[in-house]
Amino acid sequence: MPRPIVATIDSGALRHNLNVARALTPGAHLWAVVKANAYGHGIEAAVNAFADADGLALIELENAVRLRELGWKKPLLLLEGCFSSIDWHAAAEHRMACVIHCDEQLSEFEATPLPRKLDIYVKFNTGMNRLGFRIERARDVVRRLMLHEGTGEITLMTHFACADERDGHLEALRRFSDATSGLPLPRSLANSAACFDFDRVATGDGRDSVRPGIMLYGATPFTHATRSAASLKLRPAMTLSTEIIGVQSLRPGDAVGYGATYVAARDERVAVIAAGYADGYPRHAPSGTPVLVNGQRTRLVGRVSMDKIAVDVTDLPLARVGTPVELWGAQLAVDEVANAAGTIGYESLTAVSSRVPRRVV
Ligand SMILES: *Cc1c(COP(=O)(O)O)cnc(C)c1O
Repeated sequence: MPRPIVATIDSGALRHNLNVARALTPGAHLWAVVKANAYGHGIEAAVNAFADADGLALIELENAVRLRELGWKKPLLLLEGCFSSIDWHAAAEHRMACVIHCDEQLSEFEATPLPRKLDIYVKFNTGMNRLGFRIERARDVVRRLMLHEGTGEITLMTHFACADERDGHLEALRRFSDATSGLPLPRSLANSAACFDFDRVATGDGRDSVRPGIMLYGATPFTHATRSAASLKLRPAMTLSTEIIGVQSLRPGDAVGYGATYVAARDERVAVIAAGYADGYPRHAPSGTPVLVNGQRTRLVGRVSMDKIAVDVTDLPLARVGTPVELWGAQLAVDEVANAAGTIGYESLTAVSSRVPRRVV
C-alpha cells in the first residue's frame, strides 16, 4: 500500500481554463506557461491538456527538451533565455524561441554560431527591475538584433510588476508603448492577471502574444478575498488529497504536535493526516487553516510537521483511520489555504514535492 497522499490532476479543468484564457484574449497567440513542472502539475499532464495552445513557455531548458521528446511540435519559449553557448545550441536544435534580457546574454547569442535562426523575445524592464533592458533602449537593442544574422522573428516583451492590482499595469504599459511606438514588431505583455484586462493591453493588430500561467491551473492571479478563482470561472486543476492515518482523544490541557503549540480546551478528537511540509504542505499554516475531512470543513491544529498534520474532528464523529481528506483542490481553493499560511496559490502548487504521486484523470 502506498502512502495515501496523491495530487489528482484534472485534465478537463486544465482544458477548461485554457479555453477561458482564449476567450479573454481573442486573436492572440497563446503561450501556456508550464514552468516549474507546470506549476507543480507535471509537464506530462500539461503537454496533453494544452494541446490547443499555440505554444508552451517555460524557464527550464531540460524540461523544454523533454517536451520535444514527449512529442510537442509547436513553438516553445524559454522565458529567461539561455545561460551558456551550449544552451543556445540546444535551443536552436530544438527550435525554441528565446528571451534575451541583458547585454551579456545578447553578446553570447551573437557570438555563438547556430545551426538555424532563433526567434527572439527581447525583454524590457517597465518597472519590475528584475530582468530586462531599460525600455528607453528599445530601438537600439532591436536595431542590434536585426543586424545579427542568427536572429529570426523579434517580439517585444515585458512582464508587469503590478498587473494583479487594479490598473496596476497601466503606467508600465504606457512606458512600453511610448518607447516602442512605430516599431513594427509583435508584442507579448500579458500574464494571467493582464489577460483579464486584455482589451486595454492588446495592440489591436492581431499579433499580440499572451503568457497566462497560474489561471490555467485554476488559481487566482489576484487576491483570493476579492477575485477568487471561482469568481473568475476557473476550475481547480489539482486536488491534493490524503487520508486519516491515526486518531487521538485529547483531555483538556493535552497538547498536539511539536512545540505543544495547540492545547485542547475540552475533550477533543484529533485526526492525524498523512501530509506534511515534505509533501509541500505549507509549514507556516497556523492552527485554524481549513482542511476538508470527508467533505466537511474543519481546521488544522498544532504545528505542521514533515510528514503529518493534525486536524480537529471533535464534531466529525465518523472520522476514523482511512477517512478521505482534501488539503486543497476541487472543494477547497488552494488560494484560501495558501492565504491562511501567509503565502499564495502559486507557491503552494509549485511546492508539492516529488514524493507526492501525480494522478492524471
Ligand atoms: C511566470 C511567467 C508568466 C506567467 O505568470 P502568471 O502570473 O502565472 O500568469 C508570464 N510571463 C513570464 C515572463 C513569467 O515568468
